[in-house]
Amino acid sequence: MPSYTDEGIVLRRIDYGDADRILTVLTRDHGKIGVIARSVRRPQSRLGPRTDLFTRSRMQLARGRGELDVLTQAEPVTVPTPQGARRVACAALCAELTDRVLEGHHPDAEIYELVGQALRDCADSNRDPRAAVVWFARRMIDRLGYAPQLYDCVGCGATLVEEPARFSAPGGGLLCPSCAPDDPASIECSVRAIKVLRAAASGDTDLWRRLRLDAPTLGTVDHVVEAELAFHLDRRLRSFDVLRAIEGGNGAALSLD
Ligand SMILES: [Zn+2]
Repeated sequence: MPSYTDEGIVLRRIDYGDADRILTVLTRDHGKIGVIARSVRRPQSRLGPRTDLFTRSRMQLARGRGELDVLTQAEPVTVPTPQGARRVACAALCAELTDRVLEGHHPDAEIYELVGQALRDCADSNRDPRAAVVWFARRMIDRLGYAPQLYDCVGCGATLVEEPARFSAPGGGLLCPSCAPDDPASIECSVRAIKVLRAAASGDTDLWRRLRLDAPTLGTVDHVVEAELAFHLDRRLRSFDVLRAIEGGNGAALSLD
């Protein structure tokens, strides 16, 4: 079997057969691929730890006969891994979103770095991991082709003044107070939350990293991207349910695998 090497991040894994795992891996040079990792659930398997979620490694892969390539070797690339249920849930959300949005076998080095950075940010104990989720989700929604309208009302087109407004996911942006009743499911956004939404939409990483994001504001913008994703993808992301359960103190009821 011809083989190749690439760097990859494990986005998803399922147990298969007695001791194998099937992985969804985002690689730098080959895009998103399906991989079978044989015998990695045996205790003595050296490759086992390389098949953990979010693990980044330099992989040697053999082309399989079917859809799946075969993992033959992996050397870890040292990156911080998220600790704690909430950080893990945020990282899982980024991984699930990546898997949902990207098609297979379309390499994109920029997306690869973006995913890697999102996972590192989820592990960064100095930052709220939801900030990483919001930034990353914004980039992925943009990639789907849905930039939100945040300066003019999506209902009547009026320029928004500096006051609270409501975000409508089906409308694709903010509604002025007169148009707000058009979407009863719209999300109330404070002036501060609107500024944060605009900063996230700007794509300016430096500006984003300088922002002080308080929990209520981050909670609002996090709900906005969740509503956008639920609208633009044809079903909800399961990881949001896990994250909400953890935030509600009910995390033990749901598992990530
Ligand atoms: Zn309006």
